[in-house]
Amino acid sequence: MSSAPDRPESPATTPPRLRVAPSPTGDPHVGTAYMSLFNLAFARQQDGAFVLRIEDTDRARYRPDSEQQILDTLRWLGLTWDEGPDIGGPHAPYRQSERLSTYRPYVDQLLSSGHAYHCWCSSERLAELRADQARRKDPIGGYDRLCHGRTEQERAALPGYTPHPVVRMLVPEDVELTFEDLIRGTVTAPHPDDQVILKADGFPTYHLAVVVDDHEMGITHVVRGEEWISSTPKHLLLYRWLGLRPPRFAHLPLLRNTDRSKISKRNNPAARLTWFREQGYLPETLVNFLALLAYPPLLEADGSERELFTFEEFSDRFDWHKVNPVGPIFDVKKLDWLNGMTIRQLSVEDLASRLLPVLVEAGVLGPNPTLGELGRLTEVTALIQPRLARLTEAVGWVAPFYVEDDALPIADDARGQLGAEAATILDAAVEALSGLPTDEGDMFGHGRGWTAQNIEEALRAGVVQGCGVKPKVAFGPIRTAISGQRVSPPLFESMDILGRHSSLRRLRNLRASLDAATGDAG
Ligand code: GLU
Repeated sequence: MSSAPDRPESPATTPPRLRVAPSPTGDPHVGTAYMSLFNLAFARQQDGAFVLRIEDTDRARYRPDSEQQILDTLRWLGLTWDEGPDIGGPHAPYRQSERLSTYRPYVDQLLSSGHAYHCWCSSERLAELRADQARRKDPIGGYDRLCHGRTEQERAALPGYTPHPVVRMLVPEDVELTFEDLIRGTVTAPHPDDQVILKADGFPTYHLAVVVDDHEMGITHVVRGEEWISSTPKHLLLYRWLGLRPPRFAHLPLLRNTDRSKISKRNNPAARLTWFREQGYLPETLVNFLALLAYPPLLEADGSERELFTFEEFSDRFDWHKVNPVGPIFDVKKLDWLNGMTIRQLSVEDLASRLLPVLVEAGVLGPNPTLGELGRLTEVTALIQPRLARLTEAVGWVAPFYVEDDALPIADDARGQLGAEAATILDAAVEALSGLPTDEGDMFGHGRGWTAQNIEEALRAGVVQGCGVKPKVAFGPIRTAISGQRVSPPLFESMDILGRHSSLRRLRNLRASLDAATGDAG
């Protein structure tokens, strides 16, 4: 642990411009939020700009609704952009498919300067070439430059020709493989292949489009995942050939599963960004969690560390040197812990307002709850706030407070654990509580007979002592009667919220159902 508090980088002379450039190929990936967060943290700290660019040149993998999902989830997380496809900006359009005419002159320049060449090899020939290289265990591999230096006519005379050429980079033997990374220092990447930059369908590949757009959009810092390290020498080559000034690079470590494998939508539901919302995580928790994946806890001036922090705190103290380049483990247990801690820091009203849409969605509450229902929600929220890890957990706990007493479902496992003494206990509970006055009281609750404390005292005297059973044995059937569940929010407080009438009715209902089950009428 270092002794100095976190210190931001000194501000650059011109405000930096950063971007995130997701490809709309399906459900947004959690990596998109992770990249956006680190880009945005630096952009905000430096009073720079954050651009959202949609990289949709891979038409085979393009999914039409994916872009909207990306925008929605990033906005839900509060990771908002200054320029983008939905809001425009000085470098519009921000969708690569709408910028095709931008790329062509750059391709022509590379062709005429001899840094790029047409390639008419058919996909069958390229597949054969790869298979042959694999058989021969060719350590270099890559394209064999059959088309390089040939006219179309010359090439057409050879096998494996297609009339729809691509354009490839002519990567020299002595290409510079080393570059400086803001997180990793000096990085060396493997020797690249003669990369395709323009496809037969007229679309640029990622490699050309990313360089052209980052230049045209004035991007000063390219912050992206480490899987792009091996592409960076190609990009730097393109910058050099085109006479452009390259941006600075930072490659964030890839997110990993607990077994250290790369996180993917196939092997981990948490790779889907929408999963977090569905599971009831708070947006600020996810932001906090994603930051902690590659960044240490915040260091306070007094030397203590803090894991819970806001985006603003993260951004204020952000420093590239503190980013850990080693693949962070995506640990959902830690996420649950962080979410619980964040939930407990919310005001009861704030938490209730976040639970409301979850409860409406689950059908616990209707779309237009009454004031009474909302008031009860605040009371129940206060009760469950200390033990809630995810918003969705509240559904099961809150539902019993919104059902008719006679329609309360009793869960099978709760009914199954009722012992032979349940009937006696429920009778004793009804008896003990019938003695408590109604819940009338003044506006401060003074003078109320029906309070959690009075309920507990009455049940301890009437049931625990009265029946001579342990509290656990006594309160099990009562909990089942009140909530229909084996596990519920605190029992006496729940009965306080439900009120005297409902509580007694639920106790009597469960008691009566025991009679029905045994055929005993008495
Ligand atoms: N479109 C690329 C992706 O989806 C962006 C890579 C970059 O940021 O350069 O990961």
